[in-house]
Amino acid sequence: MMNRSQEAENREGWLFGTSFSPLIILSPHCDDAALSIGGSLSRFCRDDRRVTILTCFSLSRYTRFSSAGSVEEISELRKSEDRAMVSRVRSQGLGLEYLEFRDAPLRCGRTSKNLFDGRILPNEEGLLELLTRRLQDHVSPTSTVFAPLGIGSHIDHLLSRMAIDRLASTVRKIVYYEDQPYAALQPGAGTALCEGLTPRLIPINPRDKFFLLDAYASQLEAEDLCQVLDYAATVDHTRGACERLWSSGAP
Ligand SMILES: [Zn+2]
Repeated sequence: MMNRSQEAENREGWLFGTSFSPLIILSPHCDDAALSIGGSLSRFCRDDRRVTILTCFSLSRYTRFSSAGSVEEISELRKSEDRAMVSRVRSQGLGLEYLEFRDAPLRCGRTSKNLFDGRILPNEEGLLELLTRRLQDHVSPTSTVFAPLGIGSHIDHLLSRMAIDRLASTVRKIVYYEDQPYAALQPGAGTALCEGLTPRLIPINPRDKFFLLDAYASQLEAEDLCQVLDYAATVDHTRGACERLWSSGAP
């Protein structure tokens, strides 16, 4: 008979087995991987397994809590926060790569008013094509890709998901994560996006996640961290804090 820890190991074997290497975490912006699955990140990286955070829209002039000004300065600031986060994970296998696309507020036709309308503008069709081609250079038939579901309808998150979905037949597996802070702010908003997918709960240590998110001082304040961690505590009341992933196939 299996003991409790063996049962847990078995339940999570689909995720933490060696067959999930190499693992690519698709992050629309610099903080998304840590915000959405930071609690699971150090677990994915155990045994120094090869994990790459691939950020799509890494050119940005957006910060919430910094006075840095130009696109170059702010993009570099946000990447430096990524590097600080990675150093906190302490894994030889965890790396960062950037596709250097301009985030939505830098693109023609996008303002704060239509960031979340879920519609692709005519001039973004070509961007989606190009993003798909660039992603294709980073994946292989053995890659497992963790990608945003698109909860919250931020156009950069939706474009990231659409691009990787176009490559579904060329990778080993796509596993979707719940976009934060949108999932925490709008519980139930992602229901349609998860249709046909099976949920997988990953128990996390909230202190580990807090420690990683604390590296993003230009973007996040304590209240944001509390929202995301409160959500983790309510995903499944019977199992403590969790992050939820979604994939096709049986649990
Ligand atoms: Zn984002």
